Amino acid sequence: MNTDTCIFCKIVRGEIPSRKVFEDDELMAFHDINPMAPVHLLLIPREHIASMAELEQRHRNVVGNMMLVANRLAVEQGSPEGFRLIVNTGRIGRQDVYHLHMHVIGGASPLPGMIMKS
Ligand code: 5GP
Ligand code: ZN
Repeated sequence: MNTDTCIFCKIVRGEIPSRKVFEDDELMAFHDINPMAPVHLLLIPREHIASMAELEQRHRNVVGNMMLVANRLAVEQGSPEGFRLIVNTGRIGRQDVYHLHMHVIGGASPLPGMIMKS
């Protein structure tokens, strides 16, 4: 995937709009355009990493920080009593957008069963 055409790289560059909830020098978070729960955020590294399958040792800090930020965002954005993180990976994981992203999912009542994609 070319970073020129990657939809999440375009969001990082501000070329397409997003409902941003967080950004720092390495990460960005915004509302999923098609939410599956009352809280459904996407947390991404600014750097184009295609998927979990492409992670390298040098990414360990950014991936660790994604976990910490996800936890904080879930609480701040309306799911203080727990949440779910999903990282769909590759063909088997039914990944649609090949720029690493963590779904942060939660809301007022307990989520349905583990596998939600139809
Ligand atoms: P995946 O299936 O790759 O794990 O998830 C991709 C997610 O990106 C989907 O939940 C989809 O709704 C979301 N998405 C796709 N295009 C856009 C977009 O342009 N803006 C936002 N905010 N979310 C998007
Ligand atoms: Zn990208």
